[in-house]
Amino acid sequence: MQFSSKILSNVRIAPDYWRIRLTAPQEFVSARPGQFVMVRIADGITPLLRRPLAVFNLGTQASAGVTQVWFEMLYKVVGKGTALLSTLRESDVVDILGPLGNGFDLGNDDEEKLLVGGGIGLAPLYLLARELLKRSSPVRLFAGGRTRDDLLCLADFECLGVGRHCATEDGSFGAKGFVTVALNRHLDELGDKKATLYACGPDGMLHALAKIAAGRRLPCQVSLEGAMACGVGACLGCVATGKDHSPQTPDYRCVCTEGPVFESSELKWGV
Ligand SMILES: Cc1cc2nc3c(=O)[nH]c(=O)nc-3n(C[C@H](O)[C@H](O)[C@H](O)COP(=O)(O)OP(=O)(O)OC[C@H]3O[C@@H](n4cnc5c(N)ncnc54)[C@H](O)[C@@H]3O)c2cc1C
Repeated sequence: MQFSSKILSNVRIAPDYWRIRLTAPQEFVSARPGQFVMVRIADGITPLLRRPLAVFNLGTQASAGVTQVWFEMLYKVVGKGTALLSTLRESDVVDILGPLGNGFDLGNDDEEKLLVGGGIGLAPLYLLARELLKRSSPVRLFAGGRTRDDLLCLADFECLGVGRHCATEDGSFGAKGFVTVALNRHLDELGDKKATLYACGPDGMLHALAKIAAGRRLPCQVSLEGAMACGVGACLGCVATGKDHSPQTPDYRCVCTEGPVFESSELKWGV
């Protein structure tokens, strides 16, 4: 669906990172974890294209006897569009297309869910954790970043009551190094117990997780956040390379319509 959305708040939560809350129509309340929206940030030609952002959280609030649906997104200022978004204020209006994409498969309740987020990749994992906990699945969060500032909204995850493991490359918070070290240690402890991995973050981290999942024969859903132009499968600018790809038989997966969430074993990594 396409709708005009009023900004309820737009707050800087760390250097380069912002958290924005917007209004949405009633139907938006059924958006699933891992889905995203395409935001038209300005009316002019710069930036011309909408920008994709994951749904971080959503809910309802009563105001003057009316129930208003709201949703939140976390974003990192990396270029023109996100810089412009950070200048918008309460009551400003943006045009939204969404919710889009497939979202995460919540799987079975009899297994531990291990959520792995790198930096802004934590954004789609909060709603996922919230929904998994409703189904009484045990949930653990593995949060990684370059520095403490990249570990976003940990207090929100903590309020949900998820087990938490943090790692930073510079050692400013949690263990020093990559978050995959803590994940591997936990998987060793789990032994033969079932678990599913859910991940979003930089390509290097997702590639490492795909290898871990393959080595341990675990299901692993990854949410891809590469460049995307239309969000509706028209331009094919966002495709990822599928596992069966070869020069003779191209295998490309459209991230906006077939994803953004894929089983890691369905993709070809390191291409
Ligand atoms: C499904 C999906 C969900 C996403 N969810 C979020 C989210 O929740 N929060 C968030 O902050 N970002 C998210 N992203 C990434 C976000 O869309 C881009 O960071 C944003 O479009 C950049 O716009 P810009 O105008 O600020 O940067 P631009 O001016 O377009 O680009 C600035 C620089 O960043 C690079 N760049 C642009 N887009 C990307 C990208 N996707 N990946 C890597 N480098 C890029 C460009 O090459 C350029 O060097 C998501 C992407 C997808 C596909």
